[in-house]
Amino acid sequence: MLISLHKQVALVTGGSSGIGAASAIALAQAGAAVVVNYRSGREAAQRLVEEIRSAGGEAIAVGADVSSEKEVEALFAETVSAFGRLDILLANSGMQRDAPTVDMSLEDWNQVLQVNLTGQFLCVRAALRQFRQQEIREAVSRAAGKIIQMSSVHQLIPWAGRANYAASKGGLDLLMRSVAQEVGEQRIRVNAIAPGAIRTAINREATEGEAAKSLLELIPYGRIGDAEDIANAVVWLASDAADYVHGTTLFIDGGMSLYPEFRDNG
Ligand code: NAD
Repeated sequence: MLISLHKQVALVTGGSSGIGAASAIALAQAGAAVVVNYRSGREAAQRLVEEIRSAGGEAIAVGADVSSEKEVEALFAETVSAFGRLDILLANSGMQRDAPTVDMSLEDWNQVLQVNLTGQFLCVRAALRQFRQQEIREAVSRAAGKIIQMSSVHQLIPWAGRANYAASKGGLDLLMRSVAQEVGEQRIRVNAIAPGAIRTAINREATEGEAAKSLLELIPYGRIGDAEDIANAVVWLASDAADYVHGTTLFIDGGMSLYPEFRDNG
């Protein structure tokens, strides 16, 4: 099976680092023109764009805060003005502000919800509004548009000390499935990916040194994931090879959500 995203345009939010950056590269390798959105990593986003271009791909970098309605609208407008349309949204931006609930500030609660959940809503809504204006190009893709939302195993597994993050990802699950139920008949596919432990900036402390050893006890497959493990699935989910996949969360976690602590207990 050959996966091709030629003649398609992909927008990756939070695309300047980690899973977003690996996905931007993989989408470009599959033939898509890619918009790399960044919040703070302007130089990293520009380097990524150069890397994609020097490999023969098409890409631009666009700054925007996904929790700002105005900036999200400008981001989508710039995407369409650069490449004429949008076929794939990878809503990937996310953040953590950890604290025990008893000590968590309202600001830390609000900020995480605004980026991880409201930001996803704003990007999904903007993508749906764009898809609505486009014709389906059967020769390119059977779908009018594809949305992939980056969730986490913590949409399922509770996470002490990170109630804001877990609540945002739990909310994402029902956001994704409700939107999928709503727009399926328009041939818009909506899915999510729930990564387990992937080595990136968001979890550097937990994935290095001694901490990595205890983390491995939670991963039956016995290794910490790489951003490319997720990027490969992004390309597949965005392609017509996954055309009948709709309203699903794909857990990519080396088995973390199998609750391996119960192997010898419970
Ligand atoms: P990362 O920190 O490298 O990526 C997060 C990206 O989101 C960064 O590029 C950051 O600039 C961007 N971002 C943050 N706030 C933003 C805002 N307001 N507007 C626009 N962009 C913003 O870490 P990552 O691991 O690559 O995370 C990517 C996604 O994967 C996140 O949604 C995260 O919750 C999810 N995830 C990661 C893991 C993991 O183990 N790394 C596990 C589960 C889920």
